[in-house]
Amino acid sequence: MSHVPDLVMNNGKTIPQHGFGVFQIDPAETADAVRKALDIGYRHIDTAEMYRNEEGVGEAIRASGIDRSDVFVTSKLNNADHRPDDAWRAFEGTLKALGFDYVDLFLIHWPLPTLYDGDFVSTWQTLEEFYADGRARSIGVSNFQVDHLQRLADETETVPAVNQIEVHPYFTNEKVRTYGKEHGILTEAWSPIAQGGVLNDPTISAIAERVGKTTAQVTLRWHVQRGDIIFPKSTTPSRIRENFEIFDFELTEDDMRAISALDKGEEGRTGSNPDVFDFLPRR
Ligand code: NDP
Repeated sequence: MSHVPDLVMNNGKTIPQHGFGVFQIDPAETADAVRKALDIGYRHIDTAEMYRNEEGVGEAIRASGIDRSDVFVTSKLNNADHRPDDAWRAFEGTLKALGFDYVDLFLIHWPLPTLYDGDFVSTWQTLEEFYADGRARSIGVSNFQVDHLQRLADETETVPAVNQIEVHPYFTNEKVRTYGKEHGILTEAWSPIAQGGVLNDPTISAIAERVGKTTAQVTLRWHVQRGDIIFPKSTTPSRIRENFEIFDFELTEDDMRAISALDKGEEGRTGSNPDVFDFLPRR
């Protein structure tokens, strides 16, 4: 079985550097996919209220017989629930859907700076309450830009444990990652293979051929060697396994530099820009 390193967060707790993401997995198929991942050895699952599949995540973990304390579970606050009272209700809903009395990590999914009068600070202070009462063992943010993180630093007590942002070879997101490094915030790289978009890249293909791995494995290994946390998504059993087998080889410094040089800046972004993203799900 692959050996996944644990990283230490700024509150002293640990997080497995590699996990399984369940975005865009049909709620009816989620328990099955998570069960496969757990069987292979994954011990870190990344879900969100907006994915509508927290139930399946909890179900698979309970059915696996693996001790709850041996699986790291993250969920995220729905964009519609940033106001403190709503956030309380939503967090209780997340725990109920998962069927657990705590999550290992709870995140504000998006900062939504153009909504709620730009107030994500009171939302963060609400997450601080979940942290204080122990129902969220760690708290963090997702899609926060440097000025959003700086505002939390200026106006609140708790430094986020992680910032989950889009990062892959075509969008290396260095400014936000660097701020995280300088302030003790671990970076979680979402869409680590750009939803497949980097897998035919000639530079990555050449490296993959030389080291005898797939382009997905090389890309995931690049993230790990940069120190970021990853949780690739797949519902294909062979790929779930493939994505986990990245701890038995190493990329050279030249490989690392060559992959990082594929960055296209803003053009490489595949997801939404957090400065303007204002999606509110219909209820
Ligand atoms: P990924 O970069 O993980 O790519 C997933 C896609 O790549 C799927 O279509 C999958 O297909 C395919 N794929 C997976 N492994 C391989 C492989 N080895 N070879 C070829 N194709 C492969 O994208 P995601 O957007 O899902 O990101 C991963 C996780 O990050 C999410 O599940 C979620 O947890 C998180 N995330 C967070 C966001 C946020 O705003 N905080 C936003 C987006 C993602 P198939 O399933 O058919 O095998």
